[in-house]
Amino acid sequence: MFCENCGKKIEEDSAYCRFCGQKIGEASDPSKPPTGLYFSDDKSSPGFCALSFFFPIAGFILWLVWQDKYKKRAASCGKGALAGVIVSAVLVLILGIIMLALF
Ligand SMILES: [Zn+2]
Repeated sequence: MFCENCGKKIEEDSAYCRFCGQKIGEASDPSKPPTGLYFSDDKSSPGFCALSFFFPIAGFILWLVWQDKYKKRAASCGKGALAGVIVSAVLVLILGIIMLALF
């Protein structure tokens, strides 16, 4: 599991976060929206899929970061990154064939 306050990975049965001291299981300040790469829900995200398609490295990193906690969101990033890598590879291949044909 992850600390609700600082987002660091902590032991499953911890009562307190060993990084920031946040009590586990107690809701954090509700007036404060989730920050950074942390979300209150897990759902597939076409936006992150598109982002990962254009920036496969970013998509791959997000997939690694999220695969524990946000499986659906991580899957979106993973699929997007994979598609981006495949399309790039195909484009490079086509470009290579054109270059070979021209010279
Ligand atoms: Zn913490």
